[in-house]
Amino acid sequence: MPVSQEEYLYIESTTSLCSHCLKRIDGKIIVKEGKIYVLKYCIEHGKQEEILEEDAEYYLGRMKYTKPGSVSKTQTERGQNCPFDCGLCPEHEQHSCIGLIEVTNKCDLKCPTCYANSGDGEFLPLDKIGEMLDFFVDSEFGNAEILQISGGEPTTHPQIIEIIKLARKKNIKYVMLNTNGLRLAHDRDFARELSQFVGGFEVYLQFDGFDKKTYEHLRGRDLLEIKQSAINNLTEFNIPITLVSTIERGINDQEVGRIVEFGINSKCIRGINFQPVAFFGRHKDLDAKNRITITGIINNISKEMNGMVGKKDFFPLPCNVDRVAIAYLYKLKGEFVPLTRDLQVADYLPIIRNTFKFDPEDFLKDLAGKAFSPSGGCCDYLGMMKNFSKLIPKSYFLKSEKEKVEYVSENIFRISITSFVDAYNFDMKSMKKECVHVITPDLKKIPFSAYNMLYRNK
Ligand code: SF4
Ligand code: SF4
Repeated sequence: MPVSQEEYLYIESTTSLCSHCLKRIDGKIIVKEGKIYVLKYCIEHGKQEEILEEDAEYYLGRMKYTKPGSVSKTQTERGQNCPFDCGLCPEHEQHSCIGLIEVTNKCDLKCPTCYANSGDGEFLPLDKIGEMLDFFVDSEFGNAEILQISGGEPTTHPQIIEIIKLARKKNIKYVMLNTNGLRLAHDRDFARELSQFVGGFEVYLQFDGFDKKTYEHLRGRDLLEIKQSAINNLTEFNIPITLVSTIERGINDQEVGRIVEFGINSKCIRGINFQPVAFFGRHKDLDAKNRITITGIINNISKEMNGMVGKKDFFPLPCNVDRVAIAYLYKLKGEFVPLTRDLQVADYLPIIRNTFKFDPEDFLKDLAGKAFSPSGGCCDYLGMMKNFSKLIPKSYFLKSEKEKVEYVSENIFRISITSFVDAYNFDMKSMKKECVHVITPDLKKIPFSAYNMLYRNK
């Protein structure tokens, strides 16, 4: 009688990488004890079993949210196969929701977790940055969504204000400045200068929690007071902030609920992006078996917030269901409540655009198109439109572009969780859908995870 060798359920096959030598190898996606793993075998380095998601139910249900990707121009040809053909190559399945330009690799910190291995470094010249911006816009057929100006620490660049000015002149909907906050904490005038960009601009501020030990472990020193001063200076000049928190199990995974509460109670913080720690850059030698995943973070938020924001409020982002989960909250009578609670988000996929950014005008326009379409609107679309319109006052549509952006920023709060692909959890299906793309000086677009895993130090 045949005997099952392993206590697992096989789901599907994928292509993965050996975590040791980075060779392409076959992988199986399996369920074991309620969790999802990728099981792979390298002839040289043997069997490897790596965690993909802690909640099999969420993972197995995610595909009902997926939708076709959007196309952008490609720069390379097919050759050695994914992930060695970046990019973008014709096999990539998603456009650049976010284009990221590293304007320097110099940094005023030396975080033990740094993906970019930053420290000493050079500054990219302004004309090169201009060329990269033009390339980014052109690659998105003339309309780019979001630009992140990153590094290293971009605020160390002597021309950082000129760089943002230049980016704001291009056809890019939204510009973000990724920063550790050191300069912003000490240089109030810098915050004042940044305020000229409000309306289509925000600061993406590294913020990992409240415990001294969290900062010492992730950043090499206690930074809480610095983060607080940076937030105070930005708030004084009404500059929108998204917090970005790197989450590591056993370090700050018990602080996620407190970070959300802090965000929704702070005037200028408009969203949080949690990033489970990924194993590249300086952080590659840690315990990947014990890593936290998207669903681990969702569970902790649920537990810590006693259901105020819970598991059912998060859904996989339709443009990359494997690697991004999102929840939107809106302000109702002064309190933030989940926007998608009691809604079957999967029913509204046709009107969810392939982007991270939420624009109520685009959303209402698309919703109205569906509700009143000659091919037959459905009651759900009409009902949702009625509900959603209650949240958006009629005066919204009379506002200037700048005021509209401000209205959304003040009344909608976004919690996203983005998990990057590294050599341990590599699954080619999700690699091909990644939508954060590094714009390189030689004018390529390389998905963020592939860049950090394979291309940065080439
Ligand atoms: S990650 Fe995308 S661009 Fe890179 S090789 Fe794979 S499919 Fe091509
Ligand atoms: S993680 Fe950011 S702040 Fe830390 S060393 Fe790297 S670039 Fe600098």
